[in-house]
Amino acid sequence: MQPAIPSNENARLEALRDLGILDTPRDESFDDLTRIARHVAGTPLALIGLIDADREWFKSADGAVLEDTDRDLTFCAHAILTPERSTYVPDAREDPRFADNPHVVDADPATLFYYGAPLLTDDGLPIGTLCVVDHRPRTLEPAQREVIDALARQAMRLIELARSERQLRQEHEEREVLLVHLEHRNRELAALAGDLRVRADTDKLSRLGNRSAFDARLDEDLALTRDHQSPLSLLLMDLDRFKPCNDQFGHQVGDRVIRTFADILRSVSRPTDFIARYGGDEFAIILPLADSRAAIDVARRVLTAVKRADFAPCDTCTSVGVASLETPRREDEDAEALLRQADEALYAAKAAGRGRIGVSTGGAAGEISVIDPASDD
Ligand code: GH3
Ligand code: MG
Repeated sequence: MQPAIPSNENARLEALRDLGILDTPRDESFDDLTRIARHVAGTPLALIGLIDADREWFKSADGAVLEDTDRDLTFCAHAILTPERSTYVPDAREDPRFADNPHVVDADPATLFYYGAPLLTDDGLPIGTLCVVDHRPRTLEPAQREVIDALARQAMRLIELARSERQLRQEHEEREVLLVHLEHRNRELAALAGDLRVRADTDKLSRLGNRSAFDARLDEDLALTRDHQSPLSLLLMDLDRFKPCNDQFGHQVGDRVIRTFADILRSVSRPTDFIARYGGDEFAIILPLADSRAAIDVARRVLTAVKRADFAPCDTCTSVGVASLETPRREDEDAEALLRQADEALYAAKAAGRGRIGVSTGGAAGEISVIDPASDD
């Protein structure tokens, strides 16, 4: 007799697929259960079979070869029709469900005894059986049947456990992937933040530090060199006769002069120095660890390089103001005082005829000496 299709077949198949057990590799834990079942029942065969849409697939078979079987010919397809109890067939030839089954009638050896305990999901859906089979009619003691029933429940626990493990592994892998994505995104954001910070601190035209970056850096360097009792110098520069250059030749030419002058400042300074475009045609260099003599040297190098540079068609030079904090450093020094001294020195250099270096000798009196590199030649 062909087995009927259970009324809840769709839900049953969905539950079976959801368990993800079909077509998985052999597993010793299941083989242990069929081995125990076979020994307890004293039968030549014990199987854990799952009823798929049109086949029975075996997760474990003790005493038989694992091979898919046509669903219509299996005993288990009948057994799942009565999920509330195990299917006990002492002699298949006398059971109308199996009397005409080819496994009973034609096969050699024939299947004549069957005891199958249903594998039930938490929702009571039968997905298959754990069964014992013999080639001759026989009976099982109630105690033996109880053990087979218990083994079926264990098989179901194993199936559910495997699913939980797989889900955990999958979640873990997903988390790992997510983590890699997050790390990647974080690096991108950090790079972007760094980029934005650099952009906020940089003057676009000269690619030097801007005024606010200069102010921050001067405070930092003042504190640091005071802590270490090291000198610090400041150069302030203002291009000479730059306005006529712009007026005569246009802003693009003026911009080129600014870029060339920025290159000169980069070429004369050390990595620890900080160069800024202080304002329109005003520039500054913070020289940590440089005393007045070292700072004047840098100023001379700027003027020499400017002299050699090609500012054509403009006839531009620069004036420089130098202010230094020597050691031992005083407590009342601050950025404002240093800037004022450098500015006064710059003004003095301009006033003395441009292309010169004004050097503030510090102190309250504010003495300034002016160097004319041209007269050195
Ligand atoms: P001095 O010799 O006394 O320094 O006079 P100067 O002609 O250089 O004139 P001043 O320093 O007073 O004026 C600075 C000029 O710099 C004014 C403006 O035309 C020019 N300037 C300021 N910023 C820019 C800029 O971004 N690009 C260009 N091309 N010119 C600028
Ligand atoms: Mg100027």
